[in-house]
Amino acid sequence: MRERKVNKKALEAIDYLLSLAKKERDKDLARFYVEKAVRVGKRTNTRLGERKKLFCKHCFHYLNKKDKREKFPKYVLITCSECGEKKKIFKKEK
Ligand SMILES: [Zn+2]
Repeated sequence: MRERKVNKKALEAIDYLLSLAKKERDKDLARFYVEKAVRVGKRTNTRLGERKKLFCKHCFHYLNKKDKREKFPKYVLITCSECGEKKKIFKKEK
């Protein structure tokens, strides 16, 4: 079996694009950055891991404070303000 190499450059590009999305006030541009980051991940077979929690996988909206967050004992439910998609973020068990 071949080992999966961590593509450092791809990860750097993804982090950079996501940081741009975070700073971007223009919703469409932010979405464009997120979409690009996801595309880089797919193309290079890079796992996004924790980064997946930062955006809506349905419409690539970068989740921010405006998105509704509901806290449950085991997870946080975030509702995307753009498409209404609900995202569950499970808390890590200690
Ligand atoms: Zn969405």
